[in-house]
Amino acid sequence: MIIDCHGHYTTAPEAHSLWRTAQVAAFESKSEPPTYPAISDDEIVDTIESNQLRILRERGADLTIFSPRASAMEPHVGDAAVSGAWSRACNELIFRVVTLFPDSFAGVCQLPQSPGVSVAHSIPELERCVNELGFVGCNLNPDPSGGRWIGPPLTDRSWYPIYEKMVELDVPAMIHVSSSCNPNFHATGAHYINADTTAFMQLIQGDLFADFPTLRFVIPHGGGAVPYHWGRYRGLADMLNRPALDEHLMHNVFFDTCVYHQPGIDLLCEVIESKNILFGSEMLGAVRGVDPDTGNYFDDTKRYLDASNLSAKEKSDIFEHNARRAYPRLDAALKTQGR
Ligand SMILES: [Zn+2]
Repeated sequence: MIIDCHGHYTTAPEAHSLWRTAQVAAFESKSEPPTYPAISDDEIVDTIESNQLRILRERGADLTIFSPRASAMEPHVGDAAVSGAWSRACNELIFRVVTLFPDSFAGVCQLPQSPGVSVAHSIPELERCVNELGFVGCNLNPDPSGGRWIGPPLTDRSWYPIYEKMVELDVPAMIHVSSSCNPNFHATGAHYINADTTAFMQLIQGDLFADFPTLRFVIPHGGGAVPYHWGRYRGLADMLNRPALDEHLMHNVFFDTCVYHQPGIDLLCEVIESKNILFGSEMLGAVRGVDPDTGNYFDDTKRYLDASNLSAKEKSDIFEHNARRAYPRLDAALKTQGR
């Protein structure tokens, strides 16, 4: 089967987004937020069937690991209570999608992070989503300040409470920033890619996986600039007296295939071992148009993998088996379904 590890509910019903606007306005005017609106199953079915599910089927994939819209997580907006209520609302919506389409989606949660607030504050929502809603992973924002980068690196011990819980629950995190407050950094064109690259360099500098040998991170968007600059990172690891990357990080880190052209995928697959690559498209997400050079959608990343020089074994690992390894709760759920 084909598992897309990277999809967001970018087409959520309008009432959900309108509530968010009202929630933020209420925070700013120091008033009570409105009650969350009633959203019917039909509305959810309509937004999914006409978008993500239609495209999933057209492109020949089977299941998407599905999380709330990343650019709208915005943990820097409001305070911890605002982030908490918004995260719960977003995660509930994902749960409804997964419940309506159990064969086609698996849930990943947004964490109620807030700049300057301990990440331990996010543990109850992670536990709720995994234990009660059946989610298989989480999105961890390495910069909840929204492009200001005012917090410590991911290897700092202040992050350890969430890692301890992830290890206990056996769920991975996709390292995923949200929107950027800084107009110098376009969210999906610069901030996302910068954050992916930044996270990987932080991991090189630290020793996180010595403390958490079973912790797993997915670094999206093809690993940012990392595969393209693999020699730089191997060389820096050497200069900084860190172990070789294969031992230091690559038992714990996966890159997805959200790279939107053939040469980029070819480079990723040449530089990074197939065991560290997960099929992902981020559909519908960052880049929605058609490549005039090929006539195909930029984000139809399955097409690039199909056309690559990978062996059949490598392709099936990237399309399915690596995701089952990175997300054991998904693997267990699929086996329960006889898949
Ligand atoms: Zn994403």
